[in-house]
Amino acid sequence: MKQAKRSFLVIGLGRFGESITKTLASFGHEVMAIDKDETKVNKLADLVTQAVQADATDEDVLKELGVSNLDEAVVAIGDDIQASILTTLILKDLGFKRIVAKATNDYHGRVLEKIGADVVIQPEKDMGVRVAHSILFGNFIDLIELSPDYSLVEVSASQAMKGKSLKELNLRAIYGCTVLAIKSKDEEKVNISPSADDVVKDGDVLVLVGTNRDLGMLEKELL
Ligand code: ATP
Ligand code: ATP
Ligand code: CA
Repeated sequence: MKQAKRSFLVIGLGRFGESITKTLASFGHEVMAIDKDETKVNKLADLVTQAVQADATDEDVLKELGVSNLDEAVVAIGDDIQASILTTLILKDLGFKRIVAKATNDYHGRVLEKIGADVVIQPEKDMGVRVAHSILFGNFIDLIELSPDYSLVEVSASQAMKGKSLKELNLRAIYGCTVLAIKSKDEEKVNISPSADDVVKDGDVLVLVGTNRDLGMLEKELL
Protein backbone atom coordinates (compact mmCIF):
# COMPACT_ATOMS: atom_id res chain seq x y z
CA MET A 1 0.00 0.00 0.00
CA LYS A 2 1.40 3.38 -0.98
CA GLN A 3 1.35 5.89 1.86
CA ALA A 4 0.90 9.63 1.50
CA LYS A 5 3.92 11.68 2.50
CA ARG A 6 3.82 12.68 6.16
CA SER A 7 5.83 15.26 8.05
CA PHE A 8 7.60 14.69 11.34
CA LEU A 9 9.59 16.56 13.94
CA VAL A 10 11.95 14.36 15.96
CA ILE A 11 13.52 15.91 19.04
CA GLY A 12 16.42 14.16 20.79
CA LEU A 13 18.78 12.11 18.65
CA GLY A 14 20.07 9.51 21.09
CA ARG A 15 19.94 5.87 20.03
CA PHE A 16 16.14 5.86 20.20
CA GLY A 17 15.52 9.15 18.39
CA GLU A 18 18.20 8.40 15.82
CA SER A 19 16.68 5.08 14.88
CA ILE A 20 13.20 6.60 14.64
CA THR A 21 14.54 9.42 12.47
CA LYS A 22 16.37 7.08 10.11
CA THR A 23 13.35 4.82 9.73
CA LEU A 24 10.88 7.64 9.08
CA ALA A 25 13.26 9.21 6.56
CA SER A 26 13.89 5.87 4.84
CA PHE A 27 10.19 5.69 4.06
CA GLY A 28 10.51 8.98 2.21
CA HIS A 29 8.70 11.15 4.71
CA GLU A 30 9.62 14.73 5.57
CA VAL A 31 11.64 14.78 8.80
CA MET A 32 13.09 17.66 10.78
CA ALA A 33 15.51 16.40 13.43
CA ILE A 34 16.60 18.49 16.40
CA ASP A 35 19.18 17.93 19.12
CA LYS A 36 21.10 20.31 21.31
CA ASP A 37 24.23 18.27 20.61
CA GLU A 38 25.77 19.30 17.28
CA THR A 39 27.62 16.02 16.61
CA LYS A 40 24.34 14.10 16.78
CA VAL A 41 22.73 16.58 14.40
CA ASN A 42 25.59 16.35 11.89
CA LYS A 43 25.44 12.58 11.90
CA LEU A 44 21.90 12.64 10.49
CA ALA A 45 22.11 15.79 8.36
CA ASP A 46 22.34 13.98 5.02
CA LEU A 47 19.41 11.68 5.71
CA VAL A 48 16.70 14.11 6.72
CA THR A 49 14.92 17.12 5.25
CA GLN A 50 16.45 19.38 7.90
CA ALA A 51 18.73 18.71 10.87
CA VAL A 52 19.07 21.49 13.40
CA GLN A 53 21.14 22.08 16.52
CA ALA A 54 18.80 23.72 19.03
CA ASP A 55 17.45 23.56 22.55
CA ALA A 56 13.90 22.28 22.15
CA THR A 57 12.78 23.82 25.43
CA ASP A 58 13.15 27.26 23.83
CA GLU A 59 9.71 27.99 22.39
CA ASP A 60 10.88 30.99 20.34
CA VAL A 61 13.55 28.93 18.63
CA LEU A 62 11.03 26.23 17.71
CA LYS A 63 8.67 28.85 16.30
CA GLU A 64 11.47 30.44 14.27
CA LEU A 65 12.28 27.04 12.81
CA GLY A 66 8.69 26.80 11.63
CA VAL A 67 8.05 23.46 13.28
CA SER A 68 4.30 24.14 13.27
CA ASN A 69 4.32 23.31 9.57
CA LEU A 70 4.95 19.69 10.54
CA ASP A 71 2.11 17.39 11.55
CA GLU A 72 3.52 14.82 13.93
CA ALA A 73 6.21 14.93 16.59
CA VAL A 74 8.39 12.46 18.45
CA VAL A 75 9.94 13.63 21.71
CA ALA A 76 12.86 11.27 22.25
CA ILE A 77 14.52 13.05 25.14
CA GLY A 78 14.89 10.55 27.96
CA ASP A 79 17.13 11.34 30.87
CA ASP A 80 16.36 15.05 31.14
CA ILE A 81 12.77 14.62 32.32
CA GLN A 82 12.21 18.33 32.71
CA ALA A 83 13.29 19.03 29.13
CA SER A 84 11.10 16.19 27.87
CA ILE A 85 8.02 17.51 29.67
CA LEU A 86 8.60 21.12 28.71
CA THR A 87 9.20 20.22 25.06
CA THR A 88 6.05 18.08 24.93
CA LEU A 89 4.04 20.90 26.45
CA ILE A 90 5.34 23.41 23.90
CA LEU A 91 4.63 21.08 20.97
CA LYS A 92 1.14 20.46 22.31
CA ASP A 93 0.55 24.23 22.42
CA LEU A 94 1.88 24.56 18.89
CA GLY A 95 -0.93 22.27 17.78
CA PHE A 96 0.79 19.08 16.62
CA LYS A 97 -1.70 16.49 15.38
CA ARG A 98 0.07 13.68 17.15
CA ILE A 99 2.85 13.56 19.72
CA VAL A 100 4.73 10.39 20.56
CA ALA A 101 6.93 10.76 23.64
CA LYS A 102 9.54 8.60 25.29
CA ALA A 103 9.30 8.14 29.06
CA THR A 104 12.07 7.08 31.39
CA ASN A 105 9.76 5.63 34.04
CA ASP A 106 6.06 5.24 34.90
CA TYR A 107 5.76 8.62 36.64
CA HIS A 108 7.37 10.41 33.74
CA GLY A 109 4.98 8.53 31.44
CA ARG A 110 1.94 9.58 33.45
CA VAL A 111 2.94 13.21 33.31
CA LEU A 112 3.46 13.02 29.55
CA GLU A 113 -0.01 11.50 29.13
CA LYS A 114 -1.57 14.18 31.33
CA ILE A 115 -0.09 17.03 29.33
CA GLY A 116 -1.38 15.53 26.11
CA ALA A 117 1.16 13.14 24.58
CA ASP A 118 -0.89 10.81 22.38
CA VAL A 119 1.45 7.85 22.64
CA VAL A 120 3.91 7.27 25.47
CA ILE A 121 6.66 4.72 25.05
CA GLN A 122 9.07 3.22 27.54
CA PRO A 123 11.44 1.53 25.11
CA GLU A 124 13.28 -0.79 27.49
CA LYS A 125 10.13 -1.85 29.33
CA ASP A 126 7.99 -2.26 26.20
CA MET A 127 10.73 -4.13 24.38
CA GLY A 128 11.20 -6.39 27.40
CA VAL A 129 7.55 -7.46 27.19
CA ARG A 130 7.89 -8.14 23.48
CA VAL A 131 11.09 -10.09 23.78
CA ALA A 132 9.64 -12.20 26.60
CA HIS A 133 6.65 -13.02 24.40
CA SER A 134 8.80 -13.99 21.47
CA ILE A 135 10.97 -16.16 23.72
CA LEU A 136 7.92 -17.90 25.18
CA PHE A 137 5.80 -18.19 22.06
CA GLY A 138 7.55 -18.70 18.77
CA ASN A 139 4.42 -17.82 16.81
CA PHE A 140 4.09 -14.43 18.42
CA ILE A 141 4.40 -11.52 15.96
CA ASP A 142 3.13 -8.37 17.61
CA LEU A 143 1.42 -7.18 20.73
CA ILE A 144 -0.61 -4.18 21.81
CA GLU A 145 -1.34 -3.72 25.49
CA LEU A 146 -4.91 -2.40 25.63
CA SER A 147 -4.84 -2.06 29.40
CA PRO A 148 -2.81 -3.68 32.16
CA ASP A 149 -5.08 -6.74 31.86
CA TYR A 150 -6.04 -6.93 28.19
CA SER A 151 -3.89 -7.32 25.11
CA LEU A 152 -4.24 -7.66 21.42
CA VAL A 153 -1.77 -10.14 19.86
CA GLU A 154 -0.89 -11.13 16.35
CA VAL A 155 0.18 -14.77 16.02
CA SER A 156 0.91 -17.15 13.17
CA ALA A 157 -1.54 -20.02 13.08
CA SER A 158 0.01 -23.17 14.54
CA GLN A 159 -0.05 -26.65 13.03
CA ALA A 160 -2.76 -27.57 15.54
CA MET A 161 -5.06 -24.86 14.18
CA LYS A 162 -4.73 -25.43 10.46
CA GLY A 163 -7.77 -26.69 8.59
CA LYS A 164 -10.06 -26.07 11.55
CA SER A 165 -12.95 -23.64 11.73
CA LEU A 166 -13.30 -21.16 14.59
CA LYS A 167 -16.23 -23.23 15.78
CA GLU A 168 -14.05 -26.36 15.92
CA LEU A 169 -11.25 -24.48 17.65
CA ASN A 170 -13.84 -23.03 20.02
CA LEU A 171 -11.39 -20.38 21.24
CA ARG A 172 -13.97 -18.18 22.89
CA ALA A 173 -15.50 -20.97 24.93
CA ILE A 174 -12.24 -22.67 25.90
CA TYR A 175 -9.89 -19.69 26.29
CA GLY A 176 -12.16 -16.66 26.45
CA CYS A 177 -10.26 -15.21 23.48
CA THR A 178 -11.86 -13.68 20.39
CA VAL A 179 -10.41 -13.70 16.89
CA LEU A 180 -10.81 -10.15 15.58
CA ALA A 181 -9.26 -10.81 12.20
CA ILE A 182 -7.61 -13.46 10.05
CA LYS A 183 -4.96 -12.31 7.61
CA SER A 184 -4.22 -14.69 4.75
CA LYS A 185 -0.75 -15.11 3.32
CA ASP A 186 -1.67 -15.60 -0.32
CA GLU A 187 -4.60 -13.28 -0.79
CA GLU A 188 -3.77 -9.75 0.24
CA LYS A 189 -7.01 -9.66 2.15
CA VAL A 190 -7.95 -9.52 5.78
CA ASN A 191 -11.06 -11.21 7.09
CA ILE A 192 -12.35 -8.79 9.70
CA SER A 193 -14.56 -10.21 12.43
CA PRO A 194 -14.58 -13.77 11.07
CA SER A 195 -17.55 -16.04 11.61
CA ALA A 196 -17.65 -19.39 13.35
CA ASP A 197 -17.44 -21.31 10.05
CA ASP A 198 -14.31 -19.56 8.78
CA VAL A 199 -11.38 -21.95 8.51
CA VAL A 200 -7.78 -21.23 9.55
CA LYS A 201 -5.37 -21.93 6.68
CA ASP A 202 -1.65 -22.50 6.34
CA GLY A 203 0.24 -19.21 6.72
CA ASP A 204 -2.67 -17.36 8.27
CA VAL A 205 -2.04 -14.74 10.93
CA LEU A 206 -4.65 -14.37 13.66
CA VAL A 207 -5.39 -11.18 15.54
CA LEU A 208 -6.59 -12.19 18.99
CA VAL A 209 -7.95 -10.18 21.88
CA GLY A 210 -8.35 -11.34 25.48
CA THR A 211 -7.01 -11.02 28.99
CA ASN A 212 -3.27 -11.59 29.31
CA ARG A 213 -4.00 -14.66 31.38
CA ASP A 214 -6.34 -16.20 28.81
CA LEU A 215 -4.03 -15.31 25.93
CA GLY A 216 -1.15 -16.87 27.83
CA MET A 217 -3.14 -20.08 28.29
CA LEU A 218 -4.06 -20.18 24.61
CA GLU A 219 -0.47 -19.51 23.55
CA LYS A 220 0.78 -22.26 25.86
CA GLU A 221 -1.66 -24.93 24.76
CA LEU A 222 -2.31 -24.13 21.13
CA LEU A 223 0.65 -22.27 19.65
P1 ATP B 1 19.08 7.05 24.11
O1 ATP B 1 18.68 6.29 25.35
O2 ATP B 1 17.96 7.22 23.11
O3 ATP B 1 20.32 6.54 23.48
P2 ATP B 1 20.57 8.99 25.59
O4 ATP B 1 20.50 8.16 26.82
O5 ATP B 1 21.86 9.12 24.89
O6 ATP B 1 19.41 8.53 24.57
P3 ATP B 1 18.81 11.03 26.45
O7 ATP B 1 19.03 11.71 27.74
O8 ATP B 1 17.70 10.05 26.36
O9 ATP B 1 20.17 10.45 25.94
O10 ATP B 1 18.63 12.16 25.36
C1 ATP B 1 18.44 11.88 24.02
C2 ATP B 1 18.92 13.05 23.21
O11 ATP B 1 18.14 14.20 23.53
C3 ATP B 1 20.37 13.42 23.43
O12 ATP B 1 21.05 13.35 22.20
C4 ATP B 1 20.30 14.85 23.98
O13 ATP B 1 21.35 15.65 23.48
C5 ATP B 1 18.96 15.34 23.48
N1 ATP B 1 18.42 16.41 24.28
C6 ATP B 1 18.28 16.44 25.63
N2 ATP B 1 17.72 17.61 26.03
C7 ATP B 1 17.48 18.31 24.89
C8 ATP B 1 16.92 19.60 24.62
N3 ATP B 1 16.49 20.40 25.60
N4 ATP B 1 16.83 20.00 23.33
C9 ATP B 1 17.28 19.22 22.32
N5 ATP B 1 17.81 18.01 22.52
C10 ATP B 1 17.92 17.56 23.77
P1 ATP C 1 -20.86 -17.73 21.52
O1 ATP C 1 -22.05 -17.52 22.35
O2 ATP C 1 -19.67 -18.24 22.31
O3 ATP C 1 -20.51 -16.54 20.67
P2 ATP C 1 -22.52 -19.06 19.62
O4 ATP C 1 -23.41 -20.03 20.28
O5 ATP C 1 -23.02 -17.73 19.25
O6 ATP C 1 -21.19 -18.92 20.49
P3 ATP C 1 -21.12 -19.33 17.12
O7 ATP C 1 -21.10 -17.87 16.91
O8 ATP C 1 -21.51 -20.22 15.98
O9 ATP C 1 -22.02 -19.82 18.32
O10 ATP C 1 -19.68 -19.75 17.59
C1 ATP C 1 -19.43 -21.04 18.11
C2 ATP C 1 -18.11 -21.02 18.80
O11 ATP C 1 -17.09 -20.73 17.84
C3 ATP C 1 -17.97 -19.95 19.86
O12 ATP C 1 -18.39 -20.39 21.11
C4 ATP C 1 -16.49 -19.67 19.84
O13 ATP C 1 -15.80 -20.55 20.73
C5 ATP C 1 -16.08 -19.97 18.43
N1 ATP C 1 -15.93 -18.71 17.69
C6 ATP C 1 -16.73 -18.20 16.74
N2 ATP C 1 -16.27 -17.02 16.28
C7 ATP C 1 -15.14 -16.77 17.00
C8 ATP C 1 -14.18 -15.72 17.01
N3 ATP C 1 -14.26 -14.65 16.21
N4 ATP C 1 -13.15 -15.81 17.88
C9 ATP C 1 -13.02 -16.87 18.70
N5 ATP C 1 -13.88 -17.88 18.73
C10 ATP C 1 -14.93 -17.85 17.89
CA1 CA D 1 19.14 6.48 27.63
